[in-house]
Amino acid sequence: MTPMDLRPLAGRLLRQPAAPYHEDAVRAEVERICGEHGLDCERDRFGNVVVRWQTARRRRPLVLAAHLDHPGFEILRRLAPRRWLARFVGGVADDYFRAGVPLRLMPGAVPARLGIQRAGEKRFEILAARPPDLPPRFAVWELEDFAVRGGRIIGRACDDLVGTAAVLATLIELKRSRAKVNVIGVLSRAEENGFRGALTVAASRTLPRAALVLSLETSRELPPVRMGRGVIIRVGDKASVFDSDATRFLQEVAAGLRAKRPKFRFQRALMSGGTCEATAYQEFGFQSAAVCVALGNYHNCGPRRRLAAEFVSLADACGMVDLLAAAARQMPRYDALIGRLPRRLREMLREARVRLRA
Ligand SMILES: [Zn+2]
Repeated sequence: MTPMDLRPLAGRLLRQPAAPYHEDAVRAEVERICGEHGLDCERDRFGNVVVRWQTARRRRPLVLAAHLDHPGFEILRRLAPRRWLARFVGGVADDYFRAGVPLRLMPGAVPARLGIQRAGEKRFEILAARPPDLPPRFAVWELEDFAVRGGRIIGRACDDLVGTAAVLATLIELKRSRAKVNVIGVLSRAEENGFRGALTVAASRTLPRAALVLSLETSRELPPVRMGRGVIIRVGDKASVFDSDATRFLQEVAAGLRAKRPKFRFQRALMSGGTCEATAYQEFGFQSAAVCVALGNYHNCGPRRRLAAEFVSLADACGMVDLLAAAARQMPRYDALIGRLPRRLREMLREARVRLRA
């Protein structure tokens, strides 16, 4: 995947503000992109989007899961013609909520500011600069929507619209190359409020039980991973360790890519900064693994307690697409790839017995 292919997709998605439960605009953009590329897409009854590219239906399905929302404010009720009570949904530390911080009320992109904190969990007043034409339903931080600078994708909601862009880019690439694959993309809602969308998918019959589920995220840059050093095979999150065989499969696929193309880079790490959807799928019985790219200004928490746009490395995001497309193509070799290590260990055991006895 070249930056030229990924960039326009990421830009289209990141320019659509979204908050938990208010993903309509970005979901509509996803559906337009699918329509333009001839990808089958539908909504489940909870409003999650399922995109299918299945040219080899007999093969074991690979599910690519990302989420559409980003931390933001839900409007609870109107207090005065230009004043609303809102609840913030998502993980952001208290000292970022300073009165006067610029916000954008949606729909209509009405300029607004954060007002005083009210009683109750993460409840605030929001003050609009002018009376909106439509009743506001949610608000986002007034930050840059999307830019590419210095090899980085910069934008309010890299988490997880970069993941969403990666799902779409992978499906588009598999279709373009006429790959024989069985891939299902799941773009879920309200992940920032305890992955509720993913829970409804995991507990429904939308996905075949035999599917391998990969959660795609941007994840707070924590040692030992480094932004720009490649896509991260995420062995676990804050709550779980993911399936060892499935993780090894990804590692073998990544090693194969690097053998062919030395510029391809990848890392492997426990990303314990947050809990991702792989935990939800795994707890509901799916074999699950995860892939992510390192994220700067996680949840818009910039240095010195200032809100700021998030950023990721464009090269890392392209590498994520390359790894996902390769994993989809290699699904028929799953057993062979994960069997390499046990075969090597058995050979070593034979040698060990001879050598140690001697
Ligand atoms: Zn998040």
